[in-house]
Amino acid sequence: MHCDLAEDAAWKFLSPRRVPAPPMATVLSHPAVPLAMACWFPSLRRPSLLLAACILSSAPDLDALGLWLGVPYGAWHGHRGASHSPAFALLVAIALAPWLARRTGLGTVRVAAFLFAAMGSHGLIDMATNGGHGIAVLWPFTTERWFWPVQPLQVSPIGFRAMFSVWGLEVLASEALWVWLPALVLGALGLVLRRPRPAAAVTASS
Ligand SMILES: [Zn+2]
Repeated sequence: MHCDLAEDAAWKFLSPRRVPAPPMATVLSHPAVPLAMACWFPSLRRPSLLLAACILSSAPDLDALGLWLGVPYGAWHGHRGASHSPAFALLVAIALAPWLARRTGLGTVRVAAFLFAAMGSHGLIDMATNGGHGIAVLWPFTTERWFWPVQPLQVSPIGFRAMFSVWGLEVLASEALWVWLPALVLGALGLVLRRPRPAAAVTASS
């Protein structure tokens, strides 16, 4: 869910000093996915792994830094480009999994799958925003940008000051409803259904 100007052309008229900061809402909301997943899989509840997954869930928006460097919004490596694709998330997950697996004592495949899901979810959520450019979700096969047929998420404005505008508050409300609420419900369900069974019950049933 992300900040965006409607047209690339608008960026051409922004001097480097006037290019605004990346938005905060994305950073705040994407970690809802790995946190909800960890509610279902107790083995994933390792601080270093959770921290890495939360950071990766928001990391694709680092591509907004390219706007300062003159990378066109619509380029394959521009904002919402390759870094927002599942293929890119897979590469990052494969690169980081061995290190995090050693650190947490978990299996490499399990760690890689979790990191992939955390980072890969970013682009899929951005596809539900109602503004900006679409997501290059099929990169590297195509650089075409895509949205979901339905986009309930309010796209967020650019800049910290804008985030405290009425528009910014609308974005936060939209993300609370469409991201955090489902994540909380699914997470709570996971905590209930996947809670450890009491030892006595295990003994009685065995
Ligand atoms: Zn994004």
